[in-house]
Amino acid sequence: MSTVHDILIIGSGAAGYTAAIYAGRANRKPVLLSGLQHGGQLTITTEVENFPGFGEPIMGPELMDRMKQQAIRSGATLIEDLILVDRVDFTRRPFTVWTDDGREWNARVVIVATGASAKWIGLPSEQKFMGHGVSACATCDGPFYRNRKAVVVGGGDTAMEEANYLTQLCSEVVVVHRRDTLRASKAMQDRAMRNPKIRFVWDSEVTEVLGAEAPPKVTGVRLRDLKTGAVTELATDALFVAIGHEPNTGFLHDALATDDRGYLTVEPGTTRTSVHGVLAAGDVADPFYRQAVTAAGMGCMAAIEAEHLLQHEAHLAVTGAAAGH
Ligand code: NAP
Repeated sequence: MSTVHDILIIGSGAAGYTAAIYAGRANRKPVLLSGLQHGGQLTITTEVENFPGFGEPIMGPELMDRMKQQAIRSGATLIEDLILVDRVDFTRRPFTVWTDDGREWNARVVIVATGASAKWIGLPSEQKFMGHGVSACATCDGPFYRNRKAVVVGGGDTAMEEANYLTQLCSEVVVVHRRDTLRASKAMQDRAMRNPKIRFVWDSEVTEVLGAEAPPKVTGVRLRDLKTGAVTELATDALFVAIGHEPNTGFLHDALATDDRGYLTVEPGTTRTSVHGVLAAGDVADPFYRQAVTAAGMGCMAAIEAEHLLQHEAHLAVTGAAAGH
């Protein structure tokens, strides 16, 4: 068996880096597998205004780079090869994790911090204006569109929540939904329907994001009426895509318990998953808050729980051995 690490962290977002900072400072020499998108979801946003501690807004990629440097300074080893975990064995300890370059990693404690990915419509123009008017997070990017127009795509609770939130900032919010009934809960629907600043465009899809170059910015969306086929243009300064998120858990192949949407379940108030010694932090285990600061908080919790567990087991090993003599 190759080296057995005390703590292996999978994922390099706010949760993973924070876990690495704490575990590094506890002298556990954690190893962090960074995945493909080093820095996670915050690297595809622009200015971050809601992470505490910065008087001026900080750019998402810079914030993540600072967390990364802090993790390295704390003693973590970051594996930044473009590799992904494709298989795990959590049935016995030390745990084993395999990456898709064929390497095997062994650890006494594993922290899963692989995040979630926003679902996107899948348009090239959506990609092009991402971070320049196209966003999947109203709480993060809404304040950049004060007194301007916003379009929200989706008919679920997230879309209604985002639309309602945006009405506090924007001059007008248009919800574009592909059907004529909403999926959102009755209470959320009622709230959105009663909001005079929200207008609904039913049975329609966004077929293109329209915008200007240099600097890139969104100026509108092209819509197609799915019943009549009619194509129209709608002027807007921002497009918020709220069609759901997917936790990044495919590589686990059901090794850990999840809720019915695939998010890892943890014991309330902890980061403990269904397997003793495997902890989960950040959006992969959080369908609700999904903020950088909450992910960082969970990363901290996971590292502290890992430390307690390792100390407890070391103590048991010593006292157990003594008792055996
Ligand atoms: P969701 O419930 O899965 O809704 C996704 C919405 O996006 C649906 O209306 C769906 O349309 C639409 N959609 C999906 N793919 C699309 C595409 N390619 N193009 C256009 N539209 C598309 O996701 P969610 O709203 O993120 O909610 C996820 C879960 O979190 C839900 O269980 C929700 O109740 C919960 N949640 C709760 C709260 C709260 O209680 N405060 C807040 C947010 C989320 P169709 O309806 O036609 O399928």
